[in-house]
Amino acid sequence: MSTETLEFQAEARQLLQLMVHSIYSNKDIFLRELISNASDALDKLRLAALTDDELTAEDLHIEVVADAEARTLTVRDNGIGMARDEVVTLIGTIAKSGTADLLRRMKENKDKDSAELIGQFGVGFYSTFMVADRVTLVTRKAGEETGTRWESAGEGTYTIEEAADVATGTSVTVHLRPKDEEDALYDYTDEWKIKEIVKRYSDFISFPILLVKAAPAPKAEPDAEGSDDEASDDEASAAPETLNSMKALWARPRSDVKDEEYAEFYRHISHDWTDPLEIIQMRAEGTFEYEALLFIPSRAPHDLFQRDGARGIQLYVKRVFIMDDSRELMPDYLRFVKGVVDAADLSLNISREILQQDRHIQMIRRRLAKKVLSTVKDLMTKDAEKYATFWREFGRAVKEGLLSEQDDQKAILDVSSFASTASADPTTLAGYVSRMKDGQDEIYFMTGESRAQVENSPHMEAFQAKGYEVLLLTDPVDEIWVEAVPEYEGKKLQSIARGNVDLSADEDKPSQEKTGEFAPLLTWLGETLDEVKEVRLTSRLTTSPACLVSDANDITPTLEKMYKAMGQ
Ligand code: ADP
Ligand code: MG
Repeated sequence: MSTETLEFQAEARQLLQLMVHSIYSNKDIFLRELISNASDALDKLRLAALTDDELTAEDLHIEVVADAEARTLTVRDNGIGMARDEVVTLIGTIAKSGTADLLRRMKENKDKDSAELIGQFGVGFYSTFMVADRVTLVTRKAGEETGTRWESAGEGTYTIEEAADVATGTSVTVHLRPKDEEDALYDYTDEWKIKEIVKRYSDFISFPILLVKAAPAPKAEPDAEGSDDEASDDEASAAPETLNSMKALWARPRSDVKDEEYAEFYRHISHDWTDPLEIIQMRAEGTFEYEALLFIPSRAPHDLFQRDGARGIQLYVKRVFIMDDSRELMPDYLRFVKGVVDAADLSLNISREILQQDRHIQMIRRRLAKKVLSTVKDLMTKDAEKYATFWREFGRAVKEGLLSEQDDQKAILDVSSFASTASADPTTLAGYVSRMKDGQDEIYFMTGESRAQVENSPHMEAFQAKGYEVLLLTDPVDEIWVEAVPEYEGKKLQSIARGNVDLSADEDKPSQEKTGEFAPLLTWLGETLDEVKEVRLTSRLTTSPACLVSDANDITPTLEKMYKAMGQ
């Protein structure tokens, strides 16, 4: 068995650097991360055992072993484990998309923001290097013969070698840094400290987390996993204590659960660093029972607009984790919503293919979307500030739903807000309608690249002069949805840059006399300007001499640019 020394991938090395120099103020979270990985590994084994007869998933649990003498803390699971190559790719590299981008942004930012950014990204395993000067990982993949031992001091390299007599699963040993005697209020091998961290961060984990006391006789390394043949040591250790309640948060009444517990659960499933903006709990009884616990984050993830970005809904069946990233359970325009759906009547073996076709799943998806939108609507009246945060972070994604989900159109329009000439603050469509002038029966809008650009457009002049409010739509998606949404509460949405906008019948139509007077100029302009279809006399301008107007059916200039950018 030879030991190989390998280098971390460049991005992984950068992230490790940040860990070693502790950009987080809260180091406790390393234990949360290890337990979270152990829990994932147990979920995976349980799932794999359902379809693979060779595998067994019994007595699944997590052990935390503290050795004060050796100053090590070990988190051990009997889950899926990793093959050698998996250790190299999963632990030695960062495969997630957007990492490079994130690291660059972190470098540009000050430390405080870095902690936020990195939290959003989820540091996971590497967080152990905040407290360790060396980390040892011993693992054996379920169904395989040989194990793997991995070790690193968090510098540029790690060693990897074959290991014999390794139990199925993974064991991560954190060799704690020397204690800073002066201000050390606690040590991570302190029992009370471990209990406190588990209770705070991992109480809801659905497998038992056992506290195992290390044998008193100081021995070299807890290397050979599962070889309990030295009975003398074992006698000294008491029966392991279970540290977590294992209660599924979504099954508990809202009044029983502290906000902090929800927040921790949210952080566990979302890898976010911050608190959720809003918590939504649902329960459906009857022919198809399910429970759902959903979270609206307080910030958009960095990959919100990347097609392969992570989606947030986990599917459980009767408390058993089935899969992450269930896109079937939430429409794409609400892809930032995180949470859990626990359905009572699905098969544990359900596949994604079946999920996509399942009528009940489609029904759940519709109801979840409705509930999210109605929650946002409530926020508008109950907590305007939260609503403003929601719309700032997610509005652009939500508006995509106007195109993709016909059924939700009205509900989406109800919670949408837009910049407007009426004030510096965004307005809802309902707000706009309530301010419409007597005789006005259309909602005026103009699309463009920025508020300033739209406001200074010549199209705006007559509207401003006559005191008509105009919505200023400057998100790229606005160009597209306005085509798909004909009206709001019976009021047609009308672009002021297209076709003939009838501001007030008489004034707007230049007199016969005037038209005659200008006829030679109009003809000349029409012949000279190749690019235009027609030159018309208008009264819609007050100070500008001319403006470009699209035909009612033409695409807008911004849209034209977008299509060009997409290569169409
Ligand atoms: P994340 O959990 O967000 O994927 P981590 O850095 O925590 O990121 O872990 C990286 C990967 O290493 C995990 O996705 C998993 O595949 C693997 N891994 C980590 N810990 C374990 C474990 N205890 N058992 C099996 N695989 C693990
Ligand atoms: Mg993890």
